[in-house]
Amino acid sequence: MISAFYDTAFIPCFSTIVFLFGLCIGSFLNVCTWRIPRGESVIFTPSHCPNCNRKIAWYDNLPVLSWIMLLGKCRWCGGKISFRYIAIELLTAILFVIDYLRIVDTGLPLPMLLSYFVATSLFIICSFTDINHKIIPNKVTYFVIVFSLAMAFIFPGYTGKGGSFSGLLNSFLGFAAGGGTLALFSFAGSKVFKKEVLGFGDVKFVAAVGACFGLIPAVWFFVIFMGSFIGLLFGLLLIFTGKKRFDSEIKFGPFLAIAGYLWILLGPELIDFYFKTVLSCQQLIIN
Ligand SMILES: [Zn+2]
Repeated sequence: MISAFYDTAFIPCFSTIVFLFGLCIGSFLNVCTWRIPRGESVIFTPSHCPNCNRKIAWYDNLPVLSWIMLLGKCRWCGGKISFRYIAIELLTAILFVIDYLRIVDTGLPLPMLLSYFVATSLFIICSFTDINHKIIPNKVTYFVIVFSLAMAFIFPGYTGKGGSFSGLLNSFLGFAAGGGTLALFSFAGSKVFKKEVLGFGDVKFVAAVGACFGLIPAVWFFVIFMGSFIGLLFGLLLIFTGKKRFDSEIKFGPFLAIAGYLWILLGPELIDFYFKTVLSCQQLIIN
């Protein structure tokens, strides 16, 4: 049964299932990005129109389809429903399909697909809440940490390592190393610059990424350094185009999220490339 997931003949079939699943999860991520920063419950409050507060029936709440059929307007009050909803649903679905194709392509254990889905959802929610509300919600990072530790134990291979206990240990070490490293940066940064340069939300975010991916030694370095690097490039671009001043604050969350997703896309290859380059440089020096 499991081998069917990796069978090229079934790729179109599973990609479609994963796409539809991604649309549903995307719909839930919409609810999270809207409600969590406003302190509303994501489970116990029924879907309602943000304009007129009327309850939204299930047939008006289908991912993508309902938005198109209602032409982006509420059935009752005609209030505009942001294009962001459909964008997040499609983004989630597309990234989930890429996650699935990546697992098939690399032949990594199937439980890792679950960790990729969890990490991808984390990246999407936190990017949007950080851009719109300048927060990386504790509710989300804590949930991902606890959920990932549990999944690593229940599904050996969740973090790429076999066995329940080694999986749990790997997830825990990823959490501790990721969060610990960034906490250290945050502490050092605040001492050097005499102000908060890295929020504790970012620290918890990287801890959550660590719990998902486990302690592949380079993961957290990859996420942290790659995230800082992309953020730095983007910041310089904004400064040179006159959109920001040098001392302006730039949100770090979306860059950490992009770096995290890059890890899913080509992390191991980049690490491989890095070590090969280091080795060949060493050999050059020795010779
Ligand atoms: Zn309405």
